[in-house]
Amino acid sequence: MERLDCHCNNYQWGKTGAESEVARLFAAGHPDFTIEKKPYSELWMGTHPDGPARVRASARKLSTHIATSESGRKLSNNNRRDNVHLPFIMKVMSIDRTLSIQVHPTKDQAVRLHARDPVNYPDEHHKPELAYALTQFELLCGFRPAQELLDNLEAFPPLRNLFGTGNCDKLRNLIHAGFEQTHLKCRTALAEMFKKMMDVEADELRELLFALFTLLDEGVRGALREDTVAVIRKMADDFKGDVGIFSPLYLNHMVLMPGECCYYAAEELHAYLSGECVECVGCSNNTIRAACTPKYIDREALIDCLNYRMTPPEYYLVPSIPLAGPHAHVDEYAPDCKDFQLHRIRIQASSAQQVKPFPVLDCASITVFVAGSGVLVEVDENDQEVKRQHVTRGDIIYIPPGNSVQVIECSSDLEAYRTFSYEDGPDHDSRTVVQRQPVMAPMPVKKMPVQTAAYTVPSQTPITKVKFGLETEEKKKELPRFNPACDMDGVC
Ligand SMILES: [Zn+2]
Repeated sequence: MERLDCHCNNYQWGKTGAESEVARLFAAGHPDFTIEKKPYSELWMGTHPDGPARVRASARKLSTHIATSESGRKLSNNNRRDNVHLPFIMKVMSIDRTLSIQVHPTKDQAVRLHARDPVNYPDEHHKPELAYALTQFELLCGFRPAQELLDNLEAFPPLRNLFGTGNCDKLRNLIHAGFEQTHLKCRTALAEMFKKMMDVEADELRELLFALFTLLDEGVRGALREDTVAVIRKMADDFKGDVGIFSPLYLNHMVLMPGECCYYAAEELHAYLSGECVECVGCSNNTIRAACTPKYIDREALIDCLNYRMTPPEYYLVPSIPLAGPHAHVDEYAPDCKDFQLHRIRIQASSAQQVKPFPVLDCASITVFVAGSGVLVEVDENDQEVKRQHVTRGDIIYIPPGNSVQVIECSSDLEAYRTFSYEDGPDHDSRTVVQRQPVMAPMPVKKMPVQTAAYTVPSQTPITKVKFGLETEEKKKELPRFNPACDMDGVC
């Protein structure tokens, strides 16, 4: 095992100074670091060239360390290169205001986009994402169920204008005729609505936003909760005149409590809103943005990439699965994805007399300690100690494949997050990055009247706040042990 020095980003959407958990955690683990009064958005823990971790003892990049280490030879099909990359990046994020509304491409889409536009799509890789809430964590994710969407179209004529009334009628008629919301016809109707919205012009958008806020001020809610209305108002403050202000009317607004976790693969429209999370992503930086950003908006790619799935937010939740036996202090979050899995490790100081082993994994992993302190030892196959490390909040540890580590002392309750994957990492050595210039989305000018008379405001029904993952039935599960006869996915 090796202690790592990692990389901290200062994007504008991050929380400022010591308000940011990223800054506090980074300062705890990097003694020479002083928190300044500026945004601290993300702590990156991985080998990606845009923010590579370094081994503290040698100051070498982790990717170089792995490429030259004995255990690293187990890892990758590109181990003859100077760098061996991990297939994931683990992050801690502190979010003060909405990140761009975005979608990530599939692997096939990423290859095509990279070939067409390597400036804006620097990787040929997909980028699934998992977010685990450290504090109350809010995001928009996936299109709302069709009935909620229809309720909002009925209640908010400006939304209907934005999507095109004919397109909206098409979706409503299909749903009323009994078509499932997953039916291709329904998704095609939604795609037409979305496409129309992305062509909106500046003057029209201004009028539609004015009409939307007039209705909200009058108390119209449709299928919106009060906290979602607050999100819309905050987005209007942060991104004046942006088409993304409408997005909470057609996307699910999820509020995760600490310990809850969600996952979305490619083709899902999403945006983080606020809070702190541990995030796991594929080792890629490919993002197609739709709104709420000064960066490049690629409407064509966006419209092609989305899956237009209308579904309740529970679809995106990942249950916590406690491991059994000697690993009962570990909860696993395992989405349907080969790029990463997440372990939450919690050890109480009262159990300090007992040795608490980490699961032995035949793949590389990175662990970040967010609370407590203790002593971690690495042992060989004869259970003899080969390395000892005092660990405390802020420490980040790389554990090579096959290494056996265990906590032998715990002076205050430990909490750590470990990300791992059996996949090969990508080859970033041949990656060419061309510097991007920020581009404002051009808005051509065309005027359309705002319809208001043809709709009646439905009586408001109270919306029950959805309770997420903690109600999920937890299942005991044996940790799959590595079998050398198995392939990299653990399938024999
Ligand atoms: Zn994303």
